[in-house]
Amino acid sequence: MNKQLTNFLLKGGRLIDPASGRDTVCDIRVRDGKVDEIGANLAPGGATILDVKDHIVTPGLIDVHLHLMKGLGAFGVDPDIFGVGSGVTTVVDAGSAGHTLLNVFRNYVTNNAKTRVLNYINLSTLGGVSGPGYSILADPRLIDEAKIEQAVEANRDIIVGIKIMATGGALGSQGLNPLERARKLGDTLKLPLLVHIGESWTKDTAPVHVGDVLKYLRAGDIVTHMFTVHPGGLLDGNGKLWPQVRDAKESGVLMDVGHGLHNLNFDVARKVLDQGLHPDGVSTDGHRGNRAGPVYDLPTTMAKLMALGFSLNQVAEMATTNAAKLLGRTGELGTLRIGQPADISVLKLEDREWKAVDSQKGTIPAHQTIMPIYAIRGDTIYEPLPAERP
Ligand SMILES: [Zn+2]
Repeated sequence: MNKQLTNFLLKGGRLIDPASGRDTVCDIRVRDGKVDEIGANLAPGGATILDVKDHIVTPGLIDVHLHLMKGLGAFGVDPDIFGVGSGVTTVVDAGSAGHTLLNVFRNYVTNNAKTRVLNYINLSTLGGVSGPGYSILADPRLIDEAKIEQAVEANRDIIVGIKIMATGGALGSQGLNPLERARKLGDTLKLPLLVHIGESWTKDTAPVHVGDVLKYLRAGDIVTHMFTVHPGGLLDGNGKLWPQVRDAKESGVLMDVGHGLHNLNFDVARKVLDQGLHPDGVSTDGHRGNRAGPVYDLPTTMAKLMALGFSLNQVAEMATTNAAKLLGRTGELGTLRIGQPADISVLKLEDREWKAVDSQKGTIPAHQTIMPIYAIRGDTIYEPLPAERP
């Protein structure tokens, strides 16, 4: 049950707030929807006590890649399912809407959600109205810079970047031309590019080489699906990182997991990680078709990264501080600040043996799960929706 409280105390949880360097057991008071006090053994002062002893408390978790236009195609999902229904306070749609659909997105998705819903606008006018294998960038008329600029300027508060499908299937006969146009547009609008790599949907076109894609990316741009096993990924035929990938990372290009139905492969992840390339962000690529597995939710995706060797603090950092950086919202999201609207996740770390499953049904042993307990926005405390989790 969700509840609204004007004065409540999260009592005795372990607060992990990587942006401020905090990792400590303490209490947090929320009054009138704002973070009022953070400290050890705070006096109740008439507050409703929420006992979160033995729980993890973090700044509201941020899932930076999902498909959130419910009813659109095979994928659109209600944002509150992967959002506050999964212990997550901010979710970001990756390209459901091109410029023509952006107002619809704003009015029907962002404005109706309990979760904060941000948006990567699709470079293609078609956005996500067709399947991901469709050639949405293969006709030069499907990119309209002037209309994208208008749509972005009218919606700066929710737009965090431009989504591009850098696949042979999407680009078709246009080759790398859409990437060149995206680069110029990103520079004009001062927005990062979110680039999908990996030919998970199209089998009949030549894959785009990740080295060619990376030529167009700069510091702050994001590559999603970094652990894809499909052609067009980060590894060469011998399982070595393409040299351009290392160069890009060093120059400040950010790497995101983007789990999805197809694009988290543990063997690829192991090879990439063993060569020292780590993710900046963790995201589900959540949609209607992967909620019931293999993705489930962001906490489960974080637990899979823990099974790959990352610590709780590292995955918490990816889903808070780093995610805020990816979105260009450092300081505003992903950290707790006194006097600001409450935006908090409460999680339970459980010691349990389970098998983490990737997108190709590969498994690795996992020893801990992360369960969502609450997502808190302002004065409202949301409990997770019932979900089958592994
Ligand atoms: Zn996606």
